[in-house]
Amino acid sequence: MEIVAGLNLTSIKPRVWDESSDYYLPQLGAVMVSYAEFHQSPTRRDRAMEKGLHESLGIPDHVKIYLDNGAFRFSRAGGEVPRDAYKEFVEEAKPDWHVIPQDYIPTPDMSDYMQNKCLEKTMAVNQEFSYDGYVPILHVSRRLKKYIRLFNEDEKLREKPNFAIGGIVPNLLRASKAMSYEKILNSIYKVRETFAEQALHLFGVGGTSTLHVAALLGMDSVDSVGWRNRAARGLIQMPGIGDRSIADLGNWKVREPNTEELKLLADCQCPACQEHGIEGLKKDRTIGFCNRATHNLWILLEENRLIQKHLKDGTYAKWYKNHLHNTIYRPLIDKLVEKHLKQK
Ligand SMILES: [Zn+2]
Repeated sequence: MEIVAGLNLTSIKPRVWDESSDYYLPQLGAVMVSYAEFHQSPTRRDRAMEKGLHESLGIPDHVKIYLDNGAFRFSRAGGEVPRDAYKEFVEEAKPDWHVIPQDYIPTPDMSDYMQNKCLEKTMAVNQEFSYDGYVPILHVSRRLKKYIRLFNEDEKLREKPNFAIGGIVPNLLRASKAMSYEKILNSIYKVRETFAEQALHLFGVGGTSTLHVAALLGMDSVDSVGWRNRAARGLIQMPGIGDRSIADLGNWKVREPNTEELKLLADCQCPACQEHGIEGLKKDRTIGFCNRATHNLWILLEENRLIQKHLKDGTYAKWYKNHLHNTIYRPLIDKLVEKHLKQK
């Protein structure tokens, strides 16, 4: 499974893909950028179209660049992604992976009728852009079964090598009428079972424990801006135990690390902790942010490496029991592991 690190182009630091940076993470294979950020800055958009995304952002070719359409951000401003402009951008800037120009995200509080409207409108875009590299989207919603059926019935879509699964975030945020975790997992599992050949990307997976869920569901890639969002709030991720508050940047109701956890942190092998230690994580301003963000992304990449290793050599079922603590996802992970073992 590939971890795709979500970027924010207005403050692109830390340059974790850059070999000459103190924050270089050689394990990083992919980043994600949003078209909304190019559309709002004509200079940035022009430069990307002229030089290509990699050169314009200074990201080496071996780090893949995923392009999200930014539909969520456009919709908050009451609009839609301008499709022709998006199409033109894709053709010139050449991302390594790009979704269809627009999808309509069903939120849990919508009626079945409205969720169905979202599906119909998203399916129309999936079908209109069923050529070239456009990655079609299906949404986790109460209508997911219909999505699966429509994808199956459409020859062009069925033959696409990549699918993306969206809509999970509003459900995980426990919005009112959100689907139960178990229903969400079962529906994603259904997509995996039905489309065994496709590379599946799951949008918006945040912390270390959700990585376990995504890996057990057989996802091929996930993206996260969590490493940056948490860093901005003074939070750091810890392997197997979730988030801790390390810098006092607001009341986020997150525990501070205890003595044992501080010991763990003192041994952290990430480039930020190696260079600046725990004190570096506590700093404010850009330096503190860069240290925490790099640490967080390193933890995600390392967690993923361990998950893949243990799944591969058959030791996962034993390993996760001692490794994963205090996560609300634990009962779900238990169930998924059972499912996983049964299949073998
Ligand atoms: Zn670290």
